[in-house]
Amino acid sequence: MSQHTPTLLEFDATDPVALTQALVRCASVTPADGGALALLDAVLSAEGFSVERPTFSEPGMPDIENLYARIGNEGPVFVIAGHTDVVPPGDLAAWTHDPFAADIEGGVLYGRGACDMKGGLAAMTCAAIRYRRENPDAPGSIAFLVTGDEEGPAVNGTVKLLAWADARGERFDHCLLGEPTNPAAMSDMIKIGRRGSLTGKLAVQGVQGHVGYPHLAQNPIRGMVRLLAALDASPLDAGTEHFDPSNLEVTTLDVGNPATNVIPAQARAVFNIRFNDLWTPETLAAEIERRLREAAGNTVRYEVSFEPTNAVAFLTKPGPFVAMAAEAVEAETGKRPALSTTGGTSDARFIKDYCPVVEYGVVGQTMHQVDERVAIADLVALERITHRLLTSYFAAAQQA
Ligand SMILES: [Zn+2]
Repeated sequence: MSQHTPTLLEFDATDPVALTQALVRCASVTPADGGALALLDAVLSAEGFSVERPTFSEPGMPDIENLYARIGNEGPVFVIAGHTDVVPPGDLAAWTHDPFAADIEGGVLYGRGACDMKGGLAAMTCAAIRYRRENPDAPGSIAFLVTGDEEGPAVNGTVKLLAWADARGERFDHCLLGEPTNPAAMSDMIKIGRRGSLTGKLAVQGVQGHVGYPHLAQNPIRGMVRLLAALDASPLDAGTEHFDPSNLEVTTLDVGNPATNVIPAQARAVFNIRFNDLWTPETLAAEIERRLREAAGNTVRYEVSFEPTNAVAFLTKPGPFVAMAAEAVEAETGKRPALSTTGGTSDARFIKDYCPVVEYGVVGQTMHQVDERVAIADLVALERITHRLLTSYFAAAQQA
């Protein structure tokens, strides 16, 4: 595994391919930083951004460095958000290229983080730098919120960085988060919201006994089957204008009984719900409890609990900002992107408490996979799209 930070600025800071390569070569598997933030710091500082790198701590967790940068003193403030940490490469032998070498072959750049999301962050950084070089007197400000703790516990990252900036009086107007939103092509998808996530744990109590003497025992599996069937019996909702229907999946069902002649004492199950904007974690938990109560009657003894969650559903309502982003994508790719709320959660769920946020980035097909990669053409397109969005955003601000 190579670990190599290039001599700073041995490449041009408006070249998204070179910056992606330099970032991929920083082995920043959470919570390691590998020099990634220092590299961004150097690149942005050289262009006149004021850069700070606050470190956040929490007992029992590794300290995490984050980066905040800004150029300009006035509003509106356009924020570019992202993360420099990456997931582990896994089995190195399975990679056809060193995950931290950033090799380019056949128009494709290979490496851990290439699409999630060093490529996206690099392309947006280059676009911001090019925009400011071309428009040194542009109105408004461009800011960067970059964390090293998105793929890990996400405790010492974006949540604290936002609060830290807020406490210093920083106010944000709109945010572009560079997660890889496109399923197959750069014209596919902008995300304008995310579903929430709620995990529940269910335990059904029985009485252990001999399968030959069932009247002396009580099988918890029978009750568990009844409860899970009740959770699955009818849809939670039919979806909303911008969201798919909420969905419950049982993720595990455990009895742990190796014997064929023993009725077990307890059965456990875990389920996860991805929910839309009709629900909050509280209203959803209440609905689940209601269904369980009804199905259990007086015969099934059970306990249900819910994991704490900070993943609520949210929507950035389509309006001028979303339209501007979609127009920038269409102008560079020739196709109007879909406005979507699909997929997992992201740091957008924290940013939305401070300003409207949309997500757009490179093609995410290989994120977290062996041979993670990004097309050079997609990096170039993302740089152009971001530059176009910045141009129309600040032009509109000037007219307002
Ligand atoms: Zn990511």
